[in-house]
Amino acid sequence: MSIVVSTEPLIALEVDRLVGQLAGEAAGPTLLCTASLHGNEPAGLRALQKVFARLEAERPRMRGEFIGLVGNLSAVSLGERFIDSDLNRHWSPAKVAALRARRADALEDAEDLEAGQLLEEIDSAAARARGEVYCLDLHSTSGESPPFATAMDTLRNRRFALRFPVPHVLGLEEHLDHTLLDHLDGEGFITLGFEGGQHDDPRSVDHCEAAVWLALAETGVLIEPDGVPAVEEARKRLAAATTGLPQAVEVRYRHGLREDDGFEMLPGFVSFQTISEGDLLGRNDRGELRAPEGGGILMPLYQRQGDDGFFVIRKFSAFWLTLSSTLRQLRVDALLPLLPGVHRDLDRPGTLRIDRHVARFYALQIFHLAGYRKKRIEGDQLVVTRRKE
Ligand SMILES: [Zn+2]
Repeated sequence: MSIVVSTEPLIALEVDRLVGQLAGEAAGPTLLCTASLHGNEPAGLRALQKVFARLEAERPRMRGEFIGLVGNLSAVSLGERFIDSDLNRHWSPAKVAALRARRADALEDAEDLEAGQLLEEIDSAAARARGEVYCLDLHSTSGESPPFATAMDTLRNRRFALRFPVPHVLGLEEHLDHTLLDHLDGEGFITLGFEGGQHDDPRSVDHCEAAVWLALAETGVLIEPDGVPAVEEARKRLAAATTGLPQAVEVRYRHGLREDDGFEMLPGFVSFQTISEGDLLGRNDRGELRAPEGGGILMPLYQRQGDDGFFVIRKFSAFWLTLSSTLRQLRVDALLPLLPGVHRDLDRPGTLRIDRHVARFYALQIFHLAGYRKKRIEGDQLVVTRRKE
Protein backbone atom coordinates (compact mmCIF):
# COMPACT_ATOMS: atom_id res chain seq x y z
CA MET A 1 0.00 0.00 0.00
CA SER A 2 1.36 3.41 -0.82
CA ILE A 3 0.62 6.17 1.63
CA VAL A 4 1.87 9.64 0.91
CA VAL A 5 1.00 12.31 3.41
CA SER A 6 2.18 15.77 2.56
CA THR A 7 0.92 19.29 2.21
CA GLU A 8 3.27 20.02 -0.70
CA PRO A 9 1.85 20.24 -4.24
CA LEU A 10 1.21 16.80 -5.74
CA ILE A 11 3.54 17.51 -8.63
CA ALA A 12 6.53 16.58 -6.51
CA LEU A 13 5.01 13.33 -5.30
CA GLU A 14 4.99 9.88 -6.68
CA VAL A 15 1.41 8.66 -6.76
CA ASP A 16 0.27 5.14 -7.55
CA ARG A 17 -3.01 4.29 -9.27
CA LEU A 18 -3.84 2.20 -6.20
CA VAL A 19 -4.05 4.54 -3.19
CA GLY A 20 -4.86 1.67 -0.87
CA GLN A 21 -6.66 -1.64 -0.55
CA LEU A 22 -7.90 -3.34 2.61
CA ALA A 23 -9.69 -6.66 2.81
CA GLY A 24 -12.00 -7.27 5.75
CA GLU A 25 -12.08 -10.20 8.14
CA ALA A 26 -15.23 -11.60 6.49
CA ALA A 27 -17.04 -11.48 3.16
CA GLY A 28 -19.15 -8.39 2.60
CA PRO A 29 -19.71 -5.38 0.40
CA THR A 30 -17.02 -3.75 -1.74
CA LEU A 31 -16.48 0.00 -1.49
CA LEU A 32 -14.52 1.45 -4.34
CA CYS A 33 -13.50 5.11 -4.04
CA THR A 34 -12.16 6.97 -7.06
CA ALA A 35 -10.41 10.32 -6.79
CA SER A 36 -8.82 12.82 -9.16
CA LEU A 37 -10.63 11.62 -12.24
CA HIS A 38 -9.87 15.25 -13.01
CA GLY A 39 -6.16 15.86 -12.45
CA ASN A 40 -6.60 19.34 -10.97
CA GLU A 41 -8.78 17.95 -8.17
CA PRO A 42 -6.32 16.68 -5.54
CA ALA A 43 -8.69 16.90 -2.54
CA GLY A 44 -10.24 13.45 -2.99
CA LEU A 45 -6.83 11.82 -3.36
CA ARG A 46 -5.51 13.46 -0.20
CA ALA A 47 -8.69 12.43 1.60
CA LEU A 48 -8.22 8.78 0.58
CA GLN A 49 -4.59 8.86 1.73
CA LYS A 50 -5.71 10.18 5.11
CA VAL A 51 -8.47 7.58 5.50
CA PHE A 52 -6.14 4.67 4.66
CA ALA A 53 -3.51 6.02 7.09
CA ARG A 54 -6.10 6.25 9.88
CA LEU A 55 -7.52 2.80 9.11
CA GLU A 56 -3.99 1.37 9.31
CA ALA A 57 -3.42 3.08 12.65
CA GLU A 58 -6.79 2.37 14.29
CA ARG A 59 -7.68 -0.95 12.63
CA PRO A 60 -11.45 -0.96 13.10
CA ARG A 61 -13.20 -4.25 12.26
CA MET A 62 -14.06 -4.48 8.56
CA ARG A 63 -15.82 -6.85 6.19
CA GLY A 64 -15.69 -7.01 2.41
CA GLU A 65 -13.14 -4.79 0.70
CA PHE A 66 -12.22 -1.12 0.55
CA ILE A 67 -10.22 0.12 -2.44
CA GLY A 68 -9.00 3.63 -3.31
CA LEU A 69 -8.01 4.45 -6.89
CA VAL A 70 -6.59 7.52 -8.61
CA GLY A 71 -8.33 8.49 -11.85
CA ASN A 72 -6.14 10.56 -14.13
CA LEU A 73 -2.59 9.81 -12.95
CA SER A 74 -0.73 11.71 -15.66
CA ALA A 75 -2.95 14.77 -15.30
CA VAL A 76 -2.52 14.70 -11.51
CA SER A 77 1.23 14.94 -11.91
CA LEU A 78 0.73 18.07 -14.05
CA GLY A 79 -2.05 19.55 -11.93
CA GLU A 80 -4.24 19.78 -15.07
CA ARG A 81 -7.88 18.73 -15.44
CA PHE A 82 -6.84 16.44 -18.31
CA ILE A 83 -4.12 15.96 -20.94
CA ASP A 84 -6.14 15.44 -24.16
CA SER A 85 -9.75 14.97 -23.12
CA ASP A 86 -12.01 14.70 -20.06
CA LEU A 87 -11.47 11.26 -18.47
CA ASN A 88 -14.96 11.47 -17.02
CA ARG A 89 -16.52 11.32 -20.52
CA HIS A 90 -14.71 8.18 -21.70
CA TRP A 91 -17.12 5.55 -20.53
CA SER A 92 -19.45 4.85 -23.44
CA PRO A 93 -20.38 1.16 -23.87
CA ALA A 94 -18.43 1.08 -27.17
CA LYS A 95 -15.27 2.52 -25.61
CA VAL A 96 -15.47 0.23 -22.58
CA ALA A 97 -15.87 -2.80 -24.85
CA ALA A 98 -12.87 -1.72 -26.96
CA LEU A 99 -10.73 -1.15 -23.86
CA ARG A 100 -11.68 -4.53 -22.40
CA ALA A 101 -10.83 -6.25 -25.68
CA ARG A 102 -7.54 -4.27 -25.66
CA ARG A 103 -8.21 -3.24 -29.22
CA ALA A 104 -5.56 -0.90 -30.58
CA ASP A 105 -8.19 1.53 -31.84
CA ALA A 106 -9.37 1.97 -28.23
CA LEU A 107 -6.25 3.99 -27.48
CA GLU A 108 -6.88 7.29 -29.18
CA ASP A 109 -5.47 9.68 -26.61
CA ALA A 110 -3.73 9.98 -23.23
CA GLU A 111 -6.99 9.56 -21.30
CA ASP A 112 -7.83 6.28 -23.08
CA LEU A 113 -4.69 4.84 -21.53
CA GLU A 114 -5.82 6.08 -18.11
CA ALA A 115 -9.33 4.72 -18.67
CA GLY A 116 -7.93 1.33 -19.69
CA GLN A 117 -5.81 0.98 -16.54
CA LEU A 118 -8.59 2.21 -14.29
CA LEU A 119 -11.09 -0.15 -15.92
CA GLU A 120 -8.76 -3.08 -15.31
CA GLU A 121 -8.55 -2.28 -11.58
CA ILE A 122 -12.29 -1.76 -11.30
CA ASP A 123 -13.15 -4.92 -13.25
CA SER A 124 -10.87 -7.05 -11.09
CA ALA A 125 -12.36 -5.55 -7.91
CA ALA A 126 -15.84 -6.33 -9.22
CA ALA A 127 -14.79 -9.88 -10.09
CA ARG A 128 -13.48 -10.40 -6.52
CA ALA A 129 -16.61 -8.93 -4.93
CA ARG A 130 -18.73 -11.24 -2.76
CA GLY A 131 -21.45 -8.70 -2.01
CA GLU A 132 -22.94 -5.43 -3.18
CA VAL A 133 -20.43 -3.16 -4.94
CA TYR A 134 -20.46 0.59 -4.29
CA CYS A 135 -18.53 3.37 -5.97
CA LEU A 136 -17.97 6.79 -4.39
CA ASP A 137 -16.42 9.17 -6.92
CA LEU A 138 -14.70 12.18 -5.33
CA HIS A 139 -14.48 15.55 -7.06
CA SER A 140 -14.04 19.25 -6.37
CA THR A 141 -15.12 22.43 -8.15
CA SER A 142 -13.32 25.46 -9.61
CA GLY A 143 -15.61 27.88 -7.78
CA GLU A 144 -16.25 28.05 -4.08
CA SER A 145 -18.85 25.51 -2.97
CA PRO A 146 -20.26 23.70 0.04
CA PRO A 147 -20.03 19.91 -0.27
CA PHE A 148 -22.84 18.19 -2.18
CA ALA A 149 -23.70 14.82 -3.71
CA THR A 150 -24.85 13.82 -7.17
CA ALA A 151 -26.64 10.53 -7.75
CA MET A 152 -27.88 8.76 -10.85
CA ASP A 153 -31.61 8.75 -10.39
CA THR A 154 -32.48 5.22 -9.32
CA LEU A 155 -34.11 4.36 -6.02
CA ARG A 156 -31.16 2.35 -4.73
CA ASN A 157 -28.70 5.15 -5.54
CA ARG A 158 -31.04 7.64 -3.95
CA ARG A 159 -31.41 5.55 -0.79
CA PHE A 160 -27.61 5.44 -0.44
CA ALA A 161 -27.21 9.15 -1.25
CA LEU A 162 -29.73 10.22 1.38
CA ARG A 163 -27.51 8.70 4.09
CA PHE A 164 -25.07 11.58 3.52
CA PRO A 165 -26.12 14.86 5.21
CA VAL A 166 -25.39 17.12 2.22
CA PRO A 167 -27.63 18.52 -0.55
CA HIS A 168 -28.39 16.09 -3.40
CA VAL A 169 -28.28 17.32 -6.94
CA LEU A 170 -30.72 15.42 -9.15
CA GLY A 171 -30.69 15.43 -12.92
CA LEU A 172 -27.05 16.31 -13.57
CA GLU A 173 -26.79 13.04 -15.51
CA GLU A 174 -29.15 14.45 -18.16
CA HIS A 175 -26.41 16.88 -19.09
CA LEU A 176 -23.29 14.69 -18.86
CA ASP A 177 -22.67 11.72 -21.13
CA HIS A 178 -20.46 8.68 -20.58
CA THR A 179 -19.28 9.44 -17.06
CA LEU A 180 -17.55 6.74 -15.00
CA LEU A 181 -20.58 6.45 -12.71
CA ASP A 182 -22.85 6.18 -15.74
CA HIS A 183 -20.85 3.11 -16.78
CA LEU A 184 -20.67 1.62 -13.27
CA ASP A 185 -24.38 2.15 -12.69
CA GLY A 186 -24.98 0.06 -15.81
CA GLU A 187 -22.71 -2.64 -14.35
CA GLY A 188 -24.92 -2.90 -11.27
CA PHE A 189 -22.84 -0.82 -8.85
CA ILE A 190 -24.54 1.49 -6.37
CA THR A 191 -22.95 4.82 -7.17
CA LEU A 192 -22.56 8.27 -5.66
CA GLY A 193 -20.69 11.33 -6.89
CA PHE A 194 -19.38 13.69 -4.23
CA GLU A 195 -18.14 17.26 -4.65
CA GLY A 196 -16.01 18.32 -1.68
CA GLY A 197 -15.71 22.06 -2.37
CA GLN A 198 -13.24 24.32 -4.16
CA HIS A 199 -10.19 22.50 -5.67
CA ASP A 200 -7.53 24.03 -3.41
CA ASP A 201 -9.59 24.75 -0.30
CA PRO A 202 -8.21 22.60 2.56
CA ARG A 203 -11.80 22.10 3.76
CA SER A 204 -12.50 20.17 0.54
CA VAL A 205 -10.07 17.48 1.74
CA ASP A 206 -11.94 17.32 5.06
CA HIS A 207 -15.29 17.05 3.29
CA CYS A 208 -14.09 14.28 0.95
CA GLU A 209 -12.56 12.46 3.90
CA ALA A 210 -15.86 12.71 5.76
CA ALA A 211 -17.71 11.32 2.74
CA VAL A 212 -15.37 8.30 2.61
CA TRP A 213 -15.85 7.54 6.33
CA LEU A 214 -19.62 7.76 5.95
CA ALA A 215 -19.46 5.51 2.89
CA LEU A 216 -17.44 2.96 4.90
CA ALA A 217 -20.15 3.07 7.56
CA GLU A 218 -23.24 3.14 5.35
CA THR A 219 -22.11 0.36 3.01
CA GLY A 220 -21.50 -1.88 6.01
CA VAL A 221 -17.77 -2.28 5.31
CA LEU A 222 -17.19 -1.07 8.89
CA ILE A 223 -18.59 -3.79 11.12
CA GLU A 224 -19.14 -1.56 14.16
CA PRO A 225 -19.38 1.97 12.75
CA ASP A 226 -20.77 3.34 16.02
CA GLY A 227 -17.46 2.54 17.67
CA VAL A 228 -15.42 4.42 15.04
CA PRO A 229 -15.00 8.08 16.11
CA ALA A 230 -14.19 9.21 12.55
CA VAL A 231 -17.71 8.29 11.44
CA GLU A 232 -19.48 10.51 13.95
CA GLU A 233 -16.95 13.32 13.26
CA ALA A 234 -17.72 12.95 9.54
CA ARG A 235 -21.47 13.22 10.00
CA LYS A 236 -21.08 16.37 12.11
CA ARG A 237 -18.59 17.94 9.73
CA LEU A 238 -20.77 17.53 6.65
CA ALA A 239 -23.92 18.65 8.45
CA ALA A 240 -22.14 21.77 9.72
CA ALA A 241 -20.77 22.61 6.26
CA THR A 242 -24.25 22.49 4.69
CA THR A 243 -26.43 24.13 7.35
CA GLY A 244 -29.44 25.86 5.82
CA LEU A 245 -29.09 24.22 2.38
CA PRO A 246 -31.95 22.17 0.88
CA GLN A 247 -31.90 18.37 1.08
CA ALA A 248 -32.36 18.05 -2.68
CA VAL A 249 -32.17 20.29 -5.73
CA GLU A 250 -32.85 19.60 -9.37
CA VAL A 251 -30.79 20.84 -12.33
CA ARG A 252 -32.95 23.10 -14.50
CA TYR A 253 -30.43 24.46 -16.97
CA ARG A 254 -26.84 23.94 -18.12
CA HIS A 255 -24.85 26.64 -19.86
CA GLY A 256 -22.54 24.65 -22.14
CA LEU A 257 -19.51 26.27 -23.74
CA ARG A 258 -18.65 26.25 -27.42
CA GLU A 259 -15.00 25.99 -28.36
CA ASP A 260 -13.19 29.29 -27.67
CA ASP A 261 -16.39 31.27 -27.21
CA GLY A 262 -14.72 33.66 -24.79
CA PHE A 263 -16.87 32.52 -21.85
CA GLU A 264 -16.16 34.36 -18.66
CA MET A 265 -18.11 33.90 -15.46
CA LEU A 266 -18.61 37.05 -13.42
CA PRO A 267 -16.38 36.71 -10.34
CA GLY A 268 -17.69 35.86 -6.89
CA PHE A 269 -20.43 33.30 -7.53
CA VAL A 270 -20.65 30.45 -5.04
CA SER A 271 -22.54 27.17 -5.63
CA PHE A 272 -26.09 27.26 -4.18
CA GLN A 273 -26.08 31.08 -4.19
CA THR A 274 -29.59 32.38 -4.91
CA ILE A 275 -30.13 34.07 -8.28
CA SER A 276 -33.13 35.75 -9.91
CA GLU A 277 -34.28 35.49 -13.50
CA GLY A 278 -32.31 37.95 -15.65
CA ASP A 279 -29.34 38.32 -13.27
CA LEU A 280 -26.09 38.93 -15.13
CA LEU A 281 -23.93 35.82 -14.66
CA GLY A 282 -21.17 36.13 -17.25
CA ARG A 283 -20.23 37.04 -20.79
CA ASN A 284 -19.06 35.42 -23.99
CA ASP A 285 -18.22 36.72 -27.46
CA ARG A 286 -21.95 37.00 -28.23
CA GLY A 287 -22.61 39.27 -25.28
CA GLU A 288 -24.09 39.08 -21.81
CA LEU A 289 -25.22 35.83 -20.20
CA ARG A 290 -28.20 36.20 -17.91
CA ALA A 291 -30.03 33.70 -15.69
CA PRO A 292 -32.79 32.07 -17.77
CA GLU A 293 -34.80 31.54 -14.59
CA GLY A 294 -34.50 32.12 -10.87
CA GLY A 295 -33.19 29.55 -8.40
CA GLY A 296 -29.61 28.78 -7.43
CA ILE A 297 -26.30 28.69 -9.22
CA LEU A 298 -24.26 25.48 -9.31
CA MET A 299 -20.64 24.92 -10.30
CA PRO A 300 -19.78 28.29 -11.88
CA LEU A 301 -16.69 27.72 -14.04
CA TYR A 302 -13.56 29.51 -12.87
CA GLN A 303 -10.91 27.50 -14.69
CA ARG A 304 -9.55 27.27 -18.20
CA GLN A 305 -10.50 23.65 -18.93
CA GLY A 306 -14.05 22.28 -18.90
CA ASP A 307 -17.15 22.93 -20.95
CA ASP A 308 -19.87 23.43 -18.34
CA GLY A 309 -20.15 27.19 -17.78
CA PHE A 310 -22.67 26.97 -14.95
CA PHE A 311 -25.86 25.19 -13.96
CA VAL A 312 -29.10 26.62 -12.62
CA ILE A 313 -30.78 24.57 -9.91
CA ARG A 314 -34.09 24.66 -8.11
CA LYS A 315 -35.09 23.24 -4.74
CA PHE A 316 -36.70 19.81 -4.99
CA SER A 317 -38.93 19.37 -1.97
CA ALA A 318 -39.01 16.37 0.31
CA PHE A 319 -42.62 15.92 -0.81
CA TRP A 320 -41.56 15.29 -4.42
CA LEU A 321 -38.73 13.01 -3.30
CA THR A 322 -41.19 10.86 -1.37
CA LEU A 323 -43.81 10.98 -4.10
CA SER A 324 -41.39 9.90 -6.81
CA SER A 325 -40.10 7.02 -4.66
CA THR A 326 -43.67 5.89 -4.03
CA LEU A 327 -44.64 6.16 -7.69
CA ARG A 328 -41.67 4.04 -8.69
CA GLN A 329 -42.35 1.40 -6.07
CA LEU A 330 -45.89 1.20 -7.39
CA ARG A 331 -44.45 0.88 -10.90
CA VAL A 332 -46.63 3.75 -12.08
CA ASP A 333 -44.27 4.05 -15.04
CA ALA A 334 -46.02 1.00 -16.48
CA LEU A 335 -49.05 3.28 -16.99
CA LEU A 336 -47.20 6.00 -18.89
CA PRO A 337 -47.58 4.29 -22.31
CA LEU A 338 -51.36 4.64 -21.80
CA LEU A 339 -50.99 8.42 -22.25
CA PRO A 340 -51.88 9.67 -25.75
CA GLY A 341 -48.79 9.93 -27.96
CA VAL A 342 -46.58 7.89 -25.59
CA HIS A 343 -45.22 4.53 -26.76
CA ARG A 344 -42.86 1.99 -25.34
CA ASP A 345 -39.75 1.42 -27.47
CA LEU A 346 -39.98 -2.32 -28.08
CA ASP A 347 -36.31 -2.66 -29.00
CA ARG A 348 -34.92 -0.74 -26.05
CA PRO A 349 -35.99 -1.65 -22.52
CA GLY A 350 -36.71 1.28 -20.23
CA THR A 351 -37.31 3.64 -23.14
CA LEU A 352 -40.41 5.61 -24.09
CA ARG A 353 -41.04 7.48 -27.35
CA ILE A 354 -43.23 10.55 -27.06
CA ASP A 355 -44.80 12.28 -30.05
CA ARG A 356 -43.32 15.79 -29.93
CA HIS A 357 -46.63 17.38 -30.93
CA VAL A 358 -48.19 16.08 -27.74
CA ALA A 359 -45.03 16.14 -25.59
CA ARG A 360 -45.44 19.85 -24.99
CA PHE A 361 -48.73 19.13 -23.23
CA TYR A 362 -47.01 16.92 -20.69
CA ALA A 363 -44.87 18.29 -17.91
CA LEU A 364 -41.56 16.44 -18.21
CA GLN A 365 -41.77 16.22 -14.41
CA ILE A 366 -44.13 13.25 -14.81
CA PHE A 367 -41.40 11.35 -16.61
CA HIS A 368 -38.73 12.54 -14.16
CA LEU A 369 -40.78 11.37 -11.21
CA ALA A 370 -41.04 7.94 -12.82
CA GLY A 371 -37.26 7.86 -13.24
CA TYR A 372 -36.93 8.81 -16.92
CA ARG A 373 -33.93 11.14 -16.93
CA LYS A 374 -32.12 10.84 -20.24
CA LYS A 375 -33.91 12.54 -23.10
CA ARG A 376 -33.10 13.24 -26.72
CA ILE A 377 -34.90 14.23 -29.88
CA GLU A 378 -35.20 11.69 -32.70
CA GLY A 379 -37.13 13.08 -35.68
CA ASP A 380 -40.55 14.11 -34.46
CA GLN A 381 -40.23 12.11 -31.27
CA LEU A 382 -38.88 12.85 -27.82
CA VAL A 383 -37.10 9.74 -26.51
CA VAL A 384 -36.72 9.29 -22.76
CA THR A 385 -34.82 6.51 -20.98
CA ARG A 386 -34.73 5.32 -17.42
CA ARG A 387 -32.06 3.38 -15.60
CA LYS A 388 -32.55 -0.23 -14.53
CA GLU A 389 -33.41 -0.55 -10.84
ZN1 LIG B 1 -14.23 16.64 -11.25
